[in-house]
Amino acid sequence: MAAADRRIVFLGPPNSGKGTQAAILAKDLGIPAISTGEMLRSAVAAGSSLGDRVKDVMTRGDLVNDELMAEVIRDRLSQSDALTGFLLDGYPRTAVQAATLEEILGGINADLDDVVLIDAPEDVLVTRALGRGREDDQEHVVHERLRVYREKTAPLIDFYEVKGLLRRISGDQPIEEVARQVKASIGAEVG
Ligand code: ADP
Repeated sequence: MAAADRRIVFLGPPNSGKGTQAAILAKDLGIPAISTGEMLRSAVAAGSSLGDRVKDVMTRGDLVNDELMAEVIRDRLSQSDALTGFLLDGYPRTAVQAATLEEILGGINADLDDVVLIDAPEDVLVTRALGRGREDDQEHVVHERLRVYREKTAPLIDFYEVKGLLRRISGDQPIEEVARQVKASIGAEVG
């Protein structure tokens, strides 16, 4: 397998540090880090029609609907930089999205290589969120995002575990240590 030929999903609750780790690993592997949260936030900032459609849902800590996300992710994964490998941060977030991803991968005859779960105790997640200061980081929204994660996204942990793809890492450690464990867990020959 070529270094770039790698398809990875990052899973974890809000504020687990998965975005930070996704960026570090993608850079090391030379694959694009695709953060759906960032894509949506820039759409909102740009005032695009996508941005207008997702703004309110995001602000209240809820999930953008699966159909719209399917369009967003299909479009992004069809771009040339993602054809030989990618790291997804923030997708899939529901069982329906996981099925969409399988369908997209099936269409290009590819498989996921690893699903990295970065987790941390709930009190750590809440404390971090309150220090971050993003618009969707107000306390009631933080709790709503955690609730939505537990209800809609956490079931994906089992889904990927049965497939033998899950790599579990504690996000409650220094950034460098988490990064080291992430690399070791996927057998990356970097760093
Ligand atoms: P964090 O990394 O803090 O968990 P993100 O930056 O990934 O959060 O996402 C921010 C918001 O964008 C989410 O709360 C949600 O409203 C929306 N969003 C991002 N990805 C998805 C997705 N795959 N499905 C539905 N909504 C999404």
